[in-house]
Amino acid sequence: MGPLQIKELLQQTPDAQSVTLKGWVRTKRESKNAIFIAVNDGSTIHNIQAVAAPGQFSAELLLSVTTGSCLKITGQLVASQGSGQVVEVKIDDLFVYGTADPDSYPLQPKRHSLEFLREIAHLRPRTNTFSAILRIRHALAFAVHKYYNDRGFFYLHTPIITASDAEGAGEMFRVTTLDLDKLPRTDEGAINFKEDFFGREANLTVSGQLEGELGAMALSKIYTFGPTFRAENSNTTRHLAEFWMIEPEMAFFELEDNMDLAEDFIKTVISYALENCKDDLAFLENRLAEEDKNKPQNERSIPLLEKLNFVVENAFERLTYTEAIDILLKSKPHKEKKFQYPVGWGIDLSSEHERYLVEKHFKKPVILTNYPREIKSFYMKLDDDGKTVRAMDVLFPGIGEIIGGSQREDNYEKLLERVHEVGIDPETIWWYLETRKFGTAPHSGFGLGFERLVLFVTGMGNIRDVIPFPRYPKSAEF
Ligand code: ATP
Ligand code: MN
Repeated sequence: MGPLQIKELLQQTPDAQSVTLKGWVRTKRESKNAIFIAVNDGSTIHNIQAVAAPGQFSAELLLSVTTGSCLKITGQLVASQGSGQVVEVKIDDLFVYGTADPDSYPLQPKRHSLEFLREIAHLRPRTNTFSAILRIRHALAFAVHKYYNDRGFFYLHTPIITASDAEGAGEMFRVTTLDLDKLPRTDEGAINFKEDFFGREANLTVSGQLEGELGAMALSKIYTFGPTFRAENSNTTRHLAEFWMIEPEMAFFELEDNMDLAEDFIKTVISYALENCKDDLAFLENRLAEEDKNKPQNERSIPLLEKLNFVVENAFERLTYTEAIDILLKSKPHKEKKFQYPVGWGIDLSSEHERYLVEKHFKKPVILTNYPREIKSFYMKLDDDGKTVRAMDVLFPGIGEIIGGSQREDNYEKLLERVHEVGIDPETIWWYLETRKFGTAPHSGFGLGFERLVLFVTGMGNIRDVIPFPRYPKSAEF
């Protein structure tokens, strides 16, 4: 169906067979003997070269063939005379679907800054860098589904609009159909949400975990993979207001099993990308190397493929929060007062602490476990000492937290105690609490931020560049 993709054409054995190709012009070059048009349709990082003879087409038609214009070419697939490619198309017929006026088309064949490309997110998929990222993103998404499907997990669709604000994972976006100019009021003067669409306050989900647990208590192993929304008013390179999260949730998994799954999962999907995105990864590796040329030696990064292979081949370091605090207290930056935030048992680790552990101390991915109960969510299982919970965070070099998870509290009384402790009205999550009343079981799960994974695999520096249309404070164009 449809024309052959350029990716497929490039793999054919040239035999002067007749072919049709459709795509966007990357460059046009004219020499004395020929006109060379490089065409790309997004199926691969590689362009196909189409060649016309001088005088074969009118000057007017050729003038409309510019960078960004869209063409249909029919011709013969022949062995290439040039050095850059194996095959090329000798053009018989050329049709211009759409022109792209060079005076106004913003993507010219030169290096554009990532900041500039963010302003033209409607066109940036046509660049090598972004098409490579989008293809890798696709491959990783496919690998995620394959991973869980191969292991007997069921894909559970958790709601996007929720009325529970119990997760407490982040600031929420409100969903309402109330007229903001004429808000209905209660007798006390508060906004009367009884008149709102759902008859109560509603928000966009910050996590599908609570509903995921309901699924695991019936299907044993489920995962979610859907959009998640957090009104994070922080302009960092690792946070988006709308991102995709993968949340497996498993009955009969304890913390240890949860860690094993998280590590195996990340390694397997990265391996899939290494195997299936070779050309795109090679392109991005070169791009990074080019960028690094301008940096001093000690600031240059490890080559992308070497970094990915290292993660796949080496065991993640596993240690408790308490052990991590000890390492930080003994560290040089702590002793020399170089950390911006103080270190001590009970603190919520900030990214400088996490980065020290991962990038300086262990130089590999780290799984931290058994955090103080005060800094973690109410649903995490209490350790026997009553002080820590069975939490686990997976920390990655250059990224920080890529996964957050835990064994869940399965004891009804203990869970209820925690619910009260953190000030949640048990009425609002009666359905969640009932799973602990009816056939409770040990279970665990975690959340992986999909964009943080894509960020790591592509080696990009900003999370806004690994999702097609990023949402962040003051930005919802496109
Ligand atoms: P962080 O401390 O980095 O803000 P978090 O503790 O809020 O993360 P969780 O609530 O545990 O994160 O969410 C699970 C995972 O979702 C995180 O490990 C991370 O990979 C991802 N994540 C969290 N917030 C964002 C965000 N705003 N944009 C993109 N990914 C995110
Ligand atoms: Mn957060």
